[in-house]
This record gives sequence, structure tokens and C-alpha cells, in this order.
Amino acid sequence: MDTMIAARLHAYGSPMTLDRIPVPEPRPTDVLVEVKACGVVPNLARVVSNFFGKLTPDNKMMPPLPAIFGLDPAGVVAKVGEQVLSVRPGERVYVNPARSCGSCRMCRSEQPLECPGWTLQGYFGRSQDIMRAYPYGGLSQFITAPATALVKLPDTVSFEAAARFGYLGTAYAAMKKIGVGPGQTLLINGISGQLGLNAALLALAMGATKILGTGRNAALLDRVRSLDPGRIDVLAVPNAPSEGATAARPDPLVAWARAATDGDGVDGMIDCLPPGAPAGAIMRGLYCLRRGGRFVNVGAVMETLPLNAFWMMTNRIGLQGSVWFTTGEGEDMAAMAGAGTLNLSVLEHRVSPLTKVNEVLAGMDERNGGFTNFVIDPTRI
Ligand SMILES: [Zn+2]
Repeated sequence: MDTMIAARLHAYGSPMTLDRIPVPEPRPTDVLVEVKACGVVPNLARVVSNFFGKLTPDNKMMPPLPAIFGLDPAGVVAKVGEQVLSVRPGERVYVNPARSCGSCRMCRSEQPLECPGWTLQGYFGRSQDIMRAYPYGGLSQFITAPATALVKLPDTVSFEAAARFGYLGTAYAAMKKIGVGPGQTLLINGISGQLGLNAALLALAMGATKILGTGRNAALLDRVRSLDPGRIDVLAVPNAPSEGATAARPDPLVAWARAATDGDGVDGMIDCLPPGAPAGAIMRGLYCLRRGGRFVNVGAVMETLPLNAFWMMTNRIGLQGSVWFTTGEGEDMAAMAGAGTLNLSVLEHRVSPLTKVNEVLAGMDERNGGFTNFVIDPTRI
């Protein structure tokens, strides 16, 4: 076991190549994980085309080339560093790719997601030093990672389901910020997509009383509603909101959301829309909030919001952005999935061997929205 196969990107915009490289040795506080499944997010195709790299003038957000991508690896611990005390070889784990420096003020305050150098291993981030320290993404047969990044998986949670934890955790961290729970109503903008469906599954698990969701595809929306017709309701809406809709003269979505909540509006709203969706699609969701309602954004809308600060103040509206999740939040999800309160059985795993990585990236069929879980299995080459 001296060498392994990894899919490596040698130039942005070019296909990855399967290269044979040395298996890394874990440092004292790191582990070596044999990857059994790696989730592939549709956004990865944009990343390897350097869509996001071009947004920053010095290209400092992207990993040095050749790079090994792969955001959501799950597998088996193969080896542990000498200072790793509570994880043993053979344990099944998900590797949270969120890396932080470990010693800045935010890291020392136990807020690693707010580290200025925050970086996603196997993706991109804010620290070239961290990307060099952890250069192995999940599109590789083995990866090293800090022991503190491991989420232990119950036997009932498959590697394929765990490869979905990135989307799930992103939604989970957002819903914790909103306070989703019993008695609460939630609007999920983009409920049938990769992120939105996970938000719906978690909202059900967390006990939300009513979950409202928007989307464009009526058939997919019906499928989401059928997960729990007593608690989920959906509305197909066009991408662009009604022309000229305002707080005083709301979009039909707002009227629908108010009618579903005794006229109050929803307690919380989470936006899960992809890049390219218009700012107005968020704004009409904001107007669905009750007085004092909270909005958390995990979507990728890039347009500037036409936000009325006076409306926000007088209605006590809370706005927050959120990205990714802590390893502790990952442990929560693993526990919920293991107990069966978080039902991941609706996911359709589409597993491909590592040799097909370029084909997978070129042709991600999103017809079934968030129900499809794209997975690469690096043990199959
Ligand atoms: Zn830090």
C-alpha cells in the first residue's frame, strides 16, 4: 500500500487525469482514511472550470495545481497518527472538509468556521497554507485529515448517504440559526434542489410543524410534498417574482405563505437557490416572514438584494449568511440518521467509479433535483 490512484486536475478547464501517487503518511494529530464514497456536488463542475477562481483577481482561493478535488469523503480509518487517542483503524467515518488554522482568535474561541483562513479541503478556500497542508480531496483512494474532522458513522448510515453530509450539514447549521423545531414554521426557497431537499428532510427530523417550499418543477415539488403531506406544502413559482412586488403589494407567494400561517407569515426562511437566480426570488421569500422572523442564506444568489433597512428594522427581521457546518453538527446528523429520525432512504445514490469522474462532472443529470445523490467510489477504478 505504498501508492494510490487519485483524480488530479493539472489545468483549470481541462479533464482530470488518474495519476498514481504515494499514499500519504498521517502526521501525529491526523488520520489516514481509505475513501469508500465521495459526494460530487454539481458546483464542482463550475469550480474546476475556474468559475470562482476568476472572481478573485489573484486567484488565491483555488488550490495549487495539480489539485485533488472531492468535498464529501466517507470511508474507513486506515491509520492514525501517534497523538490520535480516540479514533482507531477500521472505524467508519465521514470527513468534514472544513479546515481552519487552529490558532487565530476565532479558532481559539471555538468558532473555527469564522477563521480568516477557513478552507474546504478538496475544494477551495482562503488559505493556501491549509490547502498545501491538506492537499487530498475525496476523489482519491486515501486522504489525510485532522482527527478532529471525523464524524463517526453508525452502522446503519451507508458511505453513500454520508457522502451527502455536506449539503445536509449546510442546511442543518442554517436551521439551527433559525431555531427550527416544534411549533415552528419554515419556508424553504428551492425545496426540491440538492440543498433544499436536505433542508426539508432535516426540518422534518427537527420537528418543524409546517414546512413550505418553493420550486419551479411541479412534479418534483409534489414528490417533496409526499414525504409528509401533513406538514409539507409546496408552491410552484416562476424564477422571476411578480413585477413591482413590494411589502405592501406582495407577490402571490407571500399571500400563499401568510394564508398557510394564519396570516402571520413564517417563523424562518432559508434560501437554497443556485447561482443565477435573481435577487427578487429572495426578496419575495423575505416578505413571507412574520414580524421578528429570521432569514438564513445558504444559497448562491449573487445579485445584490434591494433591501429596505427601514422595513427590516420596524419588522425586527433577522438576516444571516451561513456556510458549512462544524464537526459537532455532523455528529448530530449522524446520530439522527442512525436513529432513523433523519430519513435518508429517499436519496437515490448514483455511484460511479473513479475512472468516470470527468463524465460525471460533464453530465450531472439534475432532472430529479435533490433526490439524486452523485457519488464517486474510488475503490472502483
Ligand atoms: Zn483560525
